[in-house]
Amino acid sequence: MKRLRLIVMLAVVASLFSCHTKQEEIQNHMTYRDLGSTGLKVSEVSIGCGAFGKMDTAQARAFMDVAIDSGVNYIDIYDANPTVRGNIGYALEGRRDKMIIQGHIGSYWNAETEQYERTRDVEKAKKGFADMLSLLHTDYIEVGMVHIIDDMADWDTIQDSPFMEYVKQLKSEGKIQHIGVSSHNAAVALAAAKSGLFEVIMFSLNPAFDRIASDANAWDPESYKNMLPGIDPVRVELYDYCAQHNIAITAMKVFASGGGRLLSAEKSPMGKVFTPSQCIAYALAKPCVATAVCGASNIEELLSDLAYLSATEEERNFSAVLNESTVSGDGECTYCNHCSPCPAGIDIAKVNELLDQANQAGKVSPELQKQYDALPHHASECVQCGACETRCPFEVPIRERMLEAAKVFGK
Ligand code: SF4
Ligand code: SF4
Repeated sequence: MKRLRLIVMLAVVASLFSCHTKQEEIQNHMTYRDLGSTGLKVSEVSIGCGAFGKMDTAQARAFMDVAIDSGVNYIDIYDANPTVRGNIGYALEGRRDKMIIQGHIGSYWNAETEQYERTRDVEKAKKGFADMLSLLHTDYIEVGMVHIIDDMADWDTIQDSPFMEYVKQLKSEGKIQHIGVSSHNAAVALAAAKSGLFEVIMFSLNPAFDRIASDANAWDPESYKNMLPGIDPVRVELYDYCAQHNIAITAMKVFASGGGRLLSAEKSPMGKVFTPSQCIAYALAKPCVATAVCGASNIEELLSDLAYLSATEEERNFSAVLNESTVSGDGECTYCNHCSPCPAGIDIAKVNELLDQANQAGKVSPELQKQYDALPHHASECVQCGACETRCPFEVPIRERMLEAAKVFGK
């Protein structure tokens, strides 16, 4: 019996030691990105709130210890469940300054049904927001997110609504420092980005969703039956627009929905299993993305997400998995930029993207031509050296594409 106890104790000490060692490695590698134009610097890997609903206060504090000690400084809190908010408040007690909070406005707890609800009712939104500040033991949050706008009708209604006035009022009162919006719909997110109302957009972003038509329902597994060979053009436009206008995307669903489909051999819609590091690298490869908000339901999963920070380039490389997946057509550009640098200074990914848009539309619109003209170097400057093709994991015939682009855009 004594021997058994000794073995158990040694196992616990060993696991704590390995946890501690893993965390030290992770902390040394945390990097921070600008959250768009907000002036805030956020950790590349951040956390959601899902885990806090299944924990007691001590577990919540321990989970937050690991996150903060690993350099995480950003948390998304969409859930109005008092247990979630209360546990986070407790976990941040005495160290509110260590975490930048992205909290959702229009997320409301219905005490009768004991369910969280999305609301546009201003009185309910006020109560939901006041409850959030109270349970988090704070008098402000950094980013106030308009909670989930997933269809155009909702977007059309909300822009000039009392709800939006309330959100602006919260900002003028200093209760939120910046206004954001969350969406799973690329067309809505793009319209929201173009409205100039938002500095931050929380958007669902992963290799599978990128290959679903923007008007399809990403929650419906049926959508995966008609996946596109490349990235949906509305999503491409969204990512470009945000990068050009310094609007930060905080990426959610980076492992895809359904408990992380991309990590599962049985469920991956792409026919290949991705690692958490590859999914996180995929999201962070987009210049508009400030942080990957990773879902983790316990410390072990959190450390598995944070392993991205100490992963090698090879371990982060998602191109090979993407290339072997059932939906990726060889020869299709994914705008990943692995082919750079070009000795002629051509932004190959951008030229390919504009060419794809022109081909999909069947014409060069004035806007597309304007974007092409604005590039510092054009496809006609390609010297046909072929160096890029040796680096492209997707066998894109880049030299041919440059000749085609020069013809299509006239330079
Ligand atoms: S040409 Fe190849 S390497 Fe270059 S951006 Fe496209 S897919 Fe990536
Ligand atoms: S083939 Fe053209 S596009 Fe590719 S690296 Fe050489 S000059 Fe640049």
